[in-house]
Amino acid sequence: MSNTTKDSEAKLQSLPPSAVAFLRSGRQPWMGKASCAGMDPEIFQRPDEVEDASVWPAAAKQHCAGCCVREHCLEYAMKHRDLTGVWGGTTDEERARISSRARRIVSL
Ligand code: SF4
Repeated sequence: MSNTTKDSEAKLQSLPPSAVAFLRSGRQPWMGKASCAGMDPEIFQRPDEVEDASVWPAAAKQHCAGCCVREHCLEYAMKHRDLTGVWGGTTDEERARISSRARRIVSL
């Protein structure tokens, strides 16, 4: 990855989740109702510091629990596997496990 590409990716990751999604694949109708729009995106991304990681992702998940577009958000994140952090009340690791489980069930 070139430095320019790395810089662009770093800038992209600093934006709110809904803005990143807009730039990557176009604005989705449900994003206008996202309760996280305009929030500090840090809460939805895995922190680097170990002590913060003990709290994450509970705060983000709690916020998602009250979001009226949670199902749309989760569906979107399941389709866009490169998305990191909490989307639709799930972490990227949880979404990967869901996808893996679903693939195993389909292959039975
Ligand atoms: S479910 Fe969570 S990440 Fe998705 S739009 Fe709502 S608050 Fe934002």
